Amino acid sequence: MNETPMRARATVDLAALRANVRALRARAPRAELMAVVKADAYGHGAVPCARAARQAGASWLGTATPQEAIALRAAGDTGRLMCWLWTPGGPWREAVEADIDVSVSGMWALREAVAGARAAGRAARVQLKADTGLGRNGCQPHDWADLVAAARRAEADGTIRVTGVWSHFACADEPGHPSIAAQLTAYREMLAHAEAAGIAPEVRHIANSPALLTLPDAHFDLVRPGIATYGVSPSPEVGVSADFGLRPAMTLSASIALVKRVPGGHGVSYGHHYHTPGDTTLALVPVGYADGVPRAASDTGPVLVAGKWRTVAGRVAMDQFVVDLGGDRATVGEEAVLFGPGDRGEPTAEDWAQAVGTIAYEIVTRVGQRVPRVYL
Ligand code: PLP
Repeated sequence: MNETPMRARATVDLAALRANVRALRARAPRAELMAVVKADAYGHGAVPCARAARQAGASWLGTATPQEAIALRAAGDTGRLMCWLWTPGGPWREAVEADIDVSVSGMWALREAVAGARAAGRAARVQLKADTGLGRNGCQPHDWADLVAAARRAEADGTIRVTGVWSHFACADEPGHPSIAAQLTAYREMLAHAEAAGIAPEVRHIANSPALLTLPDAHFDLVRPGIATYGVSPSPEVGVSADFGLRPAMTLSASIALVKRVPGGHGVSYGHHYHTPGDTTLALVPVGYADGVPRAASDTGPVLVAGKWRTVAGRVAMDQFVVDLGGDRATVGEEAVLFGPGDRGEPTAEDWAQAVGTIAYEIVTRVGQRVPRVYL
């Protein structure tokens, strides 16, 4: 049974998301913008966020898996759309039929794209991905000439059209990291090689959110912000979201399920890691790690309850955790806010990331499917 927002809710402010897309476009005025909506739009809900991003001028959408991209088409999206995380035997034909740009990092993928194009009876839109130093997906420089030559042959026989040449940064969230300049140089070299071989990409792109925000030289024809679309800063080193006029779109809150007085020395939650320091009031917040509240937030996660930041008392359990209100009061049904934009005094996802020792990406993306999304 689908839950109602009574227990917990992730409220997603689509007006904030639209304003973020507009602010990001203003920062890269000569580039098109691809809103990255993979992983259910970083937990915010792919279809509503994709629609809002389009309304604010995102001419492209990007997903990791082809299934995510195909689902957006099924939901009615008709704009430029690209996906990049392929495995052998993937839905190449369906992607070509749905007019989705497919990323290719090596020969096996090019062969499967060509086969998909033949099966679909039309040319595949292929974007060649260069590994300029990330060391993850993408074609290594020493294999690039072969991949480019094979792509040119497939273009000549009409099975593919190379629409893009692109790459991805490893350390753009650490401004000044030496790998950033090295990757830009490698990207320019690999691009120049492809162009010299006759490839004429419509879009050249490498910039994720941190590069969009801090590195205008990396904007090229298209920028690909994910986390910044949702109003969250990529890292403390880049800054906080307000520095860039971005507003976090998601607020995670829950209704307090129980309030009770307990004496001092009372063990709280599994393992009794927390003992009440004296007579106190405990409030039960009915979300846990099944809802994406990290278990690592035990004894550290910040929560706004009754007008003040509290700290998770004891362990986060699967479905619930406790906060110690000390001498303060709260009522059953009152809202506990885990994170939001911060302007009602609540913590942000960036605060949670720092408290828990992770990145804000993980905090928002892992909000569980059991938590209903409510759109403003
Ligand atoms: N481009 C690619 C290939 C990605 O995998 C991602 C996400 O990791 C992004 C762009 C967006 O990155 P960010 O959320 O840092 O903007």
